[in-house]
Amino acid sequence: MGASQVVTRFAPSPTGFLHIGGARTALFNYLFARHHGGKFLLRIEDTDRARSTEPAIAAILDGLTWLDFNWDGEVVYQFARAARHAEVANQLLAAGHAYRCYATAEELDAMRAAQRAAKLPMRYDGRWRDRADWPADQPFVIRLRAPQTGSVTIDDLVQGPVTVANAELDDMVLLRSDGTPTYMLAVVVDDHDMGVTHVIRGDDHLNNAFRQLALIRALEWPEPAYAHIPLIHGADGAKLSKRHGALGVDAYRDAMGMLPEAVENYLLRLGWGHGDDEIISRAEAVAWFDLSAVGRGPSRFDMKKLESVNGHYMRAADDSRLVALISPRVEAGIGRALGAADHDILQRSMAELKKRAPNLNDLASSSLFYLRTRPIPMDDAAQRLLASTPIALLSQARQQFAGLEDWSAATVEAAARALAEASGVKLGQLAQPLRAAVTGATQSPGLFEVVETLGRDETLGRIDDALATMQRAAHPDAHQADVD
Ligand code: GLU
Repeated sequence: MGASQVVTRFAPSPTGFLHIGGARTALFNYLFARHHGGKFLLRIEDTDRARSTEPAIAAILDGLTWLDFNWDGEVVYQFARAARHAEVANQLLAAGHAYRCYATAEELDAMRAAQRAAKLPMRYDGRWRDRADWPADQPFVIRLRAPQTGSVTIDDLVQGPVTVANAELDDMVLLRSDGTPTYMLAVVVDDHDMGVTHVIRGDDHLNNAFRQLALIRALEWPEPAYAHIPLIHGADGAKLSKRHGALGVDAYRDAMGMLPEAVENYLLRLGWGHGDDEIISRAEAVAWFDLSAVGRGPSRFDMKKLESVNGHYMRAADDSRLVALISPRVEAGIGRALGAADHDILQRSMAELKKRAPNLNDLASSSLFYLRTRPIPMDDAAQRLLASTPIALLSQARQQFAGLEDWSAATVEAAARALAEASGVKLGQLAQPLRAAVTGATQSPGLFEVVETLGRDETLGRIDDALATMQRAAHPDAHQADVD
């Protein structure tokens, strides 16, 4: 590693899904590293054995992969490094920077109770700091011998200089009596061993940074730069919760049908800015990203904004990619597997459909009418419209269309215009019932494009189905047999 190479890391605890705040932290680490031509590493902080789960690890890797925040090298699993963490604790012990503490849990509880009663801050009081009368065969923890006077200042790249008096920090535990490392020790050792130069994370970790720095200084290791990013709040200013959209990124992908580049663009703008730019490509983000433009105040999560950014990327997306993305949803919607002809229809309909679809779910549902098997379902508005349409008008249209030599949007439109004129009705009075018949709805992409995409046989068949329904409604008695 060259001395000047930037190394960042994303260090999630796999105790839950990859939520939107974590994804933003990952993005900022990713962009900062790429901007500086450095490395972006991934460390899974799975030391909490009770709360870490395999599905959570899988969800984190899956979410980062979906967002295309590709990390460098192998994933580092913190738990696997426990022996190294213990080694460092023992090294500090040998050097006198740490000491054995034999205080029992009951003793410490009593100490805290006394501090609470005296309204003193609750801190370990250093009772074993200067003792060497170690009882034989008793369990002990290893604590850092932290400085007790003076203060520590962190020149945070986002928060600016932040100072804490050493008197406020007690001698934290590094190694538990069962030999397992604490979180504070593991983070410091791993960041060092991974060569991390910039620690970029949520500002809920700012307090930890002072303790971590005390440990780094005891070890005489190089100090990383810190950047603590303000947390994301809900649109109402309250701390982000599920109600505000603090869901796993998989929910944005699956339940909401969003595109990864839209989620990325939105997260980038959440707490970081580049002039008035709203739509920012990955390449631009890498070129422009800088921690100095990260705001100090909490940012507000705005679902409407995210939806509108997603709509932008939907319109910009490649048609084949959209077809592939909606296929599973479409198959679920029509209840059968898609064949080559269906894919072809979807492909041809994308240019029109994507203009109006804010997400993949809506895109999929707006495409279903193309692929439904006859007779296609009619919504209420379509049914009402057909009920008030003269049967003769639709039936004449069917005849005209059936006689067309060429089948295209232009030829069908010309035939419809000619018929409307000959019948003394406006084009819309014919086009609307036609739309109801061929799409099952009163709103759709351009009618004649739809008709061209569906083809002659399917279009005429759908008009026939509508005519049959209209005839049954007009002469209910004649079709009693159908009803029984
Ligand atoms: N594992 C911690 C978390 O998920 C992050 C620790 C760090 O970034 O230093 O909140």
